[in-house]
Amino acid sequence: MKVTFPHMGTLWIAAKAILEDLGLEVVIPPRPTRETMTLGVRHAPEFACLPLKVNVGNYIEAFERGAEAIVMAGGVGPCRFGYYAQVEREILDDLGFPYRMIVLEPPKGHLSDLINEIKDFTGQRSLMRIYRAVRLGLEKLTALDAVERRAGYVRAEEADKGATSHAVQKAMALIDRAALVGDIRAARGRGLELLEEVPRRPDQRPLRVGLVGEVYMLLEPSVNLDIERQLGEMGVAVERHVYLNDWVRSHLALDFLRMDHEREMRRAAEPYLRHWVGGHGLETIGNAVLYARRGFDGAIQVAPLTCMPEIVARSLLPVVSQDVDLPVLTLFLDEHSGEAGVRTRLEAFVDLLTRRRERKRPGDNERVQSGETRLEVIGDQR
Ligand code: SF4
Repeated sequence: MKVTFPHMGTLWIAAKAILEDLGLEVVIPPRPTRETMTLGVRHAPEFACLPLKVNVGNYIEAFERGAEAIVMAGGVGPCRFGYYAQVEREILDDLGFPYRMIVLEPPKGHLSDLINEIKDFTGQRSLMRIYRAVRLGLEKLTALDAVERRAGYVRAEEADKGATSHAVQKAMALIDRAALVGDIRAARGRGLELLEEVPRRPDQRPLRVGLVGEVYMLLEPSVNLDIERQLGEMGVAVERHVYLNDWVRSHLALDFLRMDHEREMRRAAEPYLRHWVGGHGLETIGNAVLYARRGFDGAIQVAPLTCMPEIVARSLLPVVSQDVDLPVLTLFLDEHSGEAGVRTRLEAFVDLLTRRRERKRPGDNERVQSGETRLEVIGDQR
């Protein structure tokens, strides 16, 4: 059986490793392009979330490359992610693409369900074999995340535009090629070295911006219009509130173990939002507060248009922004968003942060808390 999966950032490297180790033939979904988006928009409901549209386009492209089954994560909770798989299955059926859908649901107390699902589509592979494949995949995710995290800082100081992105590509290729846990660790080390070898401009004190928002939009550069690269090349250090490893572990593993791995984030969000609203709405609020505490210069919320959890978060962000003294820019994106338009807004935001840093004097924080200074907030921009 030839399997494919949703394209989400560098997930394909880890997903390919796991599926191939389980003995399956893999069709890597192509990186989403305008053509992918056009296919998805043509066949998905108009008000569906952008990630669903991109996935549909991607699955059609993968089918044309021979894919017969789709492995994807399922979801629960108040947002639309819970019925993504069913809607996608119906769209693809109607179009005459007879895919088998394999939906890996968050276990929520029944790890055996997840294991049985994996055994079912891998031809009853042993538990040991599944463990080995998953371990390999998680090791790759750890390596990929380490490189991406570091690149977010290095790019802001690079002397030659594009040098960091080039080093990242080389590092990703090394991680992709590594076949054993030891090789992956070595590839990770070499990848980080490549980043340290990028020539830097001296005496930089880059602005620091935290990216919050919906997971797919944050992880897939082709839909967020390469926001991390754009900001980095403007001299801004960038950190995301979610990296692949965090998402995979919390979505498919840590939830089952009921470990409150995000206790600090939840506490930070508590004065504004005490309930899970689906997606990453709660994380958007909690992490905006945490970025302010860590001294970041600003935060950018990135979300698909009509994303309910992020609309909830967006309505609270102006209050959060004022309370914690953190300028926040919101970007709701859809299939009509273009790189030039987003770049203009990013440049304006970076300009605002630069002037704000220059103006900031000791004691300003206290004045903001007591309402003597008005905080600049840019929001709701498409
Ligand atoms: S989090 Fe937002 S974009 Fe993602 S499925 Fe839910 S509503 Fe759609």
